[in-house]
Amino acid sequence: MSFEEARHLVERFAAGVSPEEVETVDLLAGLGRVLAEEILADRDSPPFARATRDGYAVRAADVAEIPARLEVVGEVKAGDWPEPGVCSVGRGQAVGIMTGAPLPEGADAVVMVEHTLPMREPAVKLVEVRRSISVGENFVPRGAEARAGQLLLDRGRRLDHAGIAMAASVGKSRVQLFRKPRVAVLSTGDEVVEIDATPGPAQIRNSNSYSLAAQVQNAGGEAVRLEIAPDERGRLRTLIEKGLGSDLLLLTGGVSMGKYDLVEQVLGELKAEFYFTGAEIQPGRPVVFGSCGGGSSTGSGRAGDPPPHKKYFFGLPGNPVSTMVTFELFARPMIEALAGMAPQPLIFLRAWLKSEIRTKTGLKRFLPAVLSGEFENAEVELARWQGSGDIAALARANCYVVIPPDRERIEAGEWVSLLMRSG
Ligand code: AMP
Ligand code: MG
Repeated sequence: MSFEEARHLVERFAAGVSPEEVETVDLLAGLGRVLAEEILADRDSPPFARATRDGYAVRAADVAEIPARLEVVGEVKAGDWPEPGVCSVGRGQAVGIMTGAPLPEGADAVVMVEHTLPMREPAVKLVEVRRSISVGENFVPRGAEARAGQLLLDRGRRLDHAGIAMAASVGKSRVQLFRKPRVAVLSTGDEVVEIDATPGPAQIRNSNSYSLAAQVQNAGGEAVRLEIAPDERGRLRTLIEKGLGSDLLLLTGGVSMGKYDLVEQVLGELKAEFYFTGAEIQPGRPVVFGSCGGGSSTGSGRAGDPPPHKKYFFGLPGNPVSTMVTFELFARPMIEALAGMAPQPLIFLRAWLKSEIRTKTGLKRFLPAVLSGEFENAEVELARWQGSGDIAALARANCYVVIPPDRERIEAGEWVSLLMRSG
């Protein structure tokens, strides 16, 4: 299956899931979390015609011919309210105004202070305007940004600093959010040991459990790290069943073609349905996506029965770079959907390739790369790497260069697509 087909498949299943539980939290605690309510404008925004420059509120018609001398009849600063009739702009008049202040009645434009010259006359205060302007210049009309009641942030929106600003601006000090999905992380492999153990000569620390937990959190989920499963059917099955108690199960390792790669077999025993077992990508070719339970259960609730609700799982290859890449490509959209987020398309950026790439055709490649350059001159080059097990290469990289399956050689100076690494 091609990368695009596999991704679309996950997106289709993700479109069918949604969180149920909602909680109310303080606004700032909602950073990175998903709104379960709509945020509406509580009043017009801006609530009054708001000056965007320091200067004079005028009638544009009065400054059609320049220089024009206007009588200064008042001043409004931010926070002042120009009471109509008390502080209004009549013909031939102007009111001094500061950025952020409400436009007085009668004015239809603001002249920047830079285009005026104050004049000291003994009896009246005058200002000379030296540039004409059009109606509507240098202020934002009331309600131009939003009308009272208008939808500002939709349900399913993940709160970032701009979303927080929006909610704050309408007085939402507490917000309703979806509960974070619980995502079980299950590493498999006889050679894998916990990171605080002293590894034997042939043992590998369980870094995948940590990278995945970090990626889960970053995608808006709550990671539940399970014990390491050995390459032994019984124990693996017990831990898979435990993992299926969460909202989603991520497995690493044991999905290749080796004699001890038992994950698919054990999932098969649990009557899993597989949507794909492998995608034409590198790294991460053996990636598996499927589900267990939901509908096929007899409801007896005996140990070993499939879970009553359909639970999705991903079997990610154990090589650490493959694990991290396949998470981003396939597991992330499912976690986002379980977290209540509206679907996010996968977006590739483009940059100049700094040095030539040679590869083989047949697979879409996501190769760890370093994006550099300055301002608009983004350049990218592959990180030196020893293959899918090279965590150090990925830690040096900040993106992936994406190489289409039909390209064998990409010259320096070509535009290449890249996928930014999130978090
Ligand atoms: P597998 O997919 O089980 O064939 O594993 C592929 C490679 O990834 C092997 O070299 C493993 O030692 C390594 N690996 C598997 N699981 C982990 C893990 N949890 N943390 C770090 N490396 C792992
Ligand atoms: Mg293994």
